[in-house]
Amino acid sequence: MTNIDAKAPVCVTGASGYIAGWIVRYLLEEGYTVHATVRDPSKQSSVGHLQAIAEAQPGTLKLFASDLNQPGSFDEAVQGCQVVMHTASPFVLSGYDDAEAALVRPAVDGTRNVLEAVNRCADVQRVVLTSSVAGIYGDSADIRNTENGVFTEADWNTTSSVDHNPYQYSKVAAERVAWEICKAQSRWDMVTINPAMVLGPSLTNASQSASIDLLRQLADGRLRDGVPRLSMGIVDVREVARAHLLAAFTPDAEGRYILCSASRTMLRMATTLKSRFRDGYRFPKRELPKPLVWLFGPMKGPVTRRFISRNAGYDVRFDNSRSRALGVEYRTPEDTLVEHFQQIVDDGQIRSRKAA
Ligand code: NAP
Repeated sequence: MTNIDAKAPVCVTGASGYIAGWIVRYLLEEGYTVHATVRDPSKQSSVGHLQAIAEAQPGTLKLFASDLNQPGSFDEAVQGCQVVMHTASPFVLSGYDDAEAALVRPAVDGTRNVLEAVNRCADVQRVVLTSSVAGIYGDSADIRNTENGVFTEADWNTTSSVDHNPYQYSKVAAERVAWEICKAQSRWDMVTINPAMVLGPSLTNASQSASIDLLRQLADGRLRDGVPRLSMGIVDVREVARAHLLAAFTPDAEGRYILCSASRTMLRMATTLKSRFRDGYRFPKRELPKPLVWLFGPMKGPVTRRFISRNAGYDVRFDNSRSRALGVEYRTPEDTLVEHFQQIVDDGQIRSRKAA
């Protein structure tokens, strides 16, 4: 049972990110002082939106320069904080040559660096770690190994590696290291938030988060020939941010919390968007047979045959009862999708063919 002083500052790592933007906003709205870490506090595209929120809210924003790859880099930011929310981690699914350097090292060594800073700072009582359902499973086919055909917090991803699903591997490896470090001491406790695919409006245009590219891909014609039957859990970014605050300030919060509203296939997501946004966009209209995707998929993008074999055609389901008991109230994936897509349209990130 951990009671947090509401006047103490809260540290949020990776504050420039898509999810962290909402966390910082909710903390500032509630009057907290936020120690926000970013790699480059002078970069307006990373911090301008946070500074604008801070000006309008009762809380106070303090920026710190911290890099996951540098030991000692988070020491100053955690000083005086009773809660540390560690969200920073690279979330990219393509565009790198060396997965170990681009994903795994910053995720794992970065988590170690943050938690070693926590160990050196006597003020910290609780860490909230942004893990992922990637800590729970690697491929959709892993659903066959669950007890009741549903992923729960008891499941661990044992099928990812640097060579197969390296992002998922970076997340499960970082979460395992975090629990090891946590269990080696007794002064602070840790709660992990394990979100499914996060969608919903973004407070920043600068994020590289793969979440933001997914909707663009569904509408810009890259998938117009059809999509494989890929199923994923979906959760709204605002629910994920709220869950971080609930995890931090609910004294008896403990362990892992899966965050997922419901699961949808890519085709169902596209059909939802098409019914609302009509014909101006090149949404996929059908599912492609798995053998066809297996044969041609690897030529069209960074997917491998192993990924297709172990993911296409398997529907995933998640038990979200622990997060609901914590106080998370979910909106539907359809509401989230439509609101997020509307924002992408309004921001000019995707253009209707009619407007072109
Ligand atoms: P994001 O917008 O790309 O945010 C990630 C943040 O990590 C960036 O703001 C970046 O900050 C920081 N970062 C990356 N490399 C860094 C480094 N070497 N040193 C310091 N900071 C670094 O992605 P997001 O979607 O909000 O993801 C946030 C967290 O949620 C991640 O841990 C991700 O794995 C997890 N998650 C995301 C989803 C999802 O669907 N989006 C689902 C489950 C879990 P800079 O400004 O300094 O570059």
